[in-house]
Amino acid sequence: MSYQLFTKQPQIVCCTALLNKFLIMFEFISYQNTPGGKIRVEFASGITELADTLAVVAGEMGHYEVQAQGVRPTLGSILYLPVKGGRMVSLKLRVLGVSELISPVNAWKASCQGPDVKEFNLRCLDMSCDECKEVSQVEFIEYSDSIESDAVKALNQQGWLASLEKQVCPKCYKAAH
Ligand SMILES: [Zn+2]
Repeated sequence: MSYQLFTKQPQIVCCTALLNKFLIMFEFISYQNTPGGKIRVEFASGITELADTLAVVAGEMGHYEVQAQGVRPTLGSILYLPVKGGRMVSLKLRVLGVSELISPVNAWKASCQGPDVKEFNLRCLDMSCDECKEVSQVEFIEYSDSIESDAVKALNQQGWLASLEKQVCPKCYKAAH
């Protein structure tokens, strides 16, 4: 696997210890873009809509309090929040409770379950496709002791056909199927 790594600023997200890193990242990281200042609300039906972010507070044990204005999630909805500095990474929170805020209009507060981590290492790599040789920039979250396998997992989540030995970009992978 040949690529260049450069670290972006680590992002402080929460303040408790790292427990089961693999499970945490599998459940709470999504390789999709969420626009800055917005929250993507995904309902159980699969429909997603954007709300405006008012505040996000990370507490103990992966508990998050999210305040926003606009479309209101229901119990069991998923909230996607942009990760600072990332273009293709979102934080994925499960809604445990929602209540209305008195002001501003259409504002709400949701208590959510998210990753119980101190910080994310958001990384970026220049990945070249083994078939078309085109180089694309890929973002991923480093969470295990093996950066290579974290990158491979992220590539697969972003439409690549990737292993430690071979990486095929989404375009070539689609063309072959
Ligand atoms: Zn390709």
